[in-house]
Amino acid sequence: MEVTIKSTKILLIQSDITLEETDAIVNAANTSLRGGGGVDGAIHRAGGPEILEECIAKYPQGCKTGEAKVTHGGLLKAMWVIHTPGPIWRGGDQNESELLKNSYRNSFQQAEFAGATSISYPSISTGIYGFPIQKAAPIAIDTVLDCLPSNSIREVHFVLFSKRDLTIYTEILTQVLDSSLE
Ligand code: ADP
Repeated sequence: MEVTIKSTKILLIQSDITLEETDAIVNAANTSLRGGGGVDGAIHRAGGPEILEECIAKYPQGCKTGEAKVTHGGLLKAMWVIHTPGPIWRGGDQNESELLKNSYRNSFQQAEFAGATSISYPSISTGIYGFPIQKAAPIAIDTVLDCLPSNSIREVHFVLFSKRDLTIYTEILTQVLDSSLE
């Protein structure tokens, strides 16, 4: 699915985020910024050891949940990786939604500061961290749309790993567009 909103193209695709050719890709990291499993592991494997070296050198304290830190993309096609630890799902009453929102918004802002014209997001927190994707998808989409219009970002990709996740995102984006027309 592809739509243009306030001069920025929004694409929902099923793919591996390490193959993205956008200026920036977002990494669903953990607070240590020392690599991990899931999409984090895939990004460090594909991008090579430079990314971890830069994380260690620049961010010895790691990164707080919901904040975002930038490194270069190493061997990736993307110029920058925006590392953001999303919240671990603990039942929904531990500020998880607000923290997830922060991850999307702070990643967007860091990409803008870096000068990116395009950014790709994975589905933050909905893997190992257990955030239900039905609740996470509207937060992801609403938060990014709230960041528009952007001075620099002309393209946003939501890169979903599974067909099921892509279907959920497509339904949510369709609902958001329908309700904005009402
Ligand atoms: P978290 O710890 O934030 O939950 P995960 O990496 O476990 O992060 O999962 C986040 C989402 O990323 C999940 O939907 C998972 O299927 C997906 N994912 C895993 N590997 C990739 C990849 N290479 N490209 C895109 N998405 C991926």
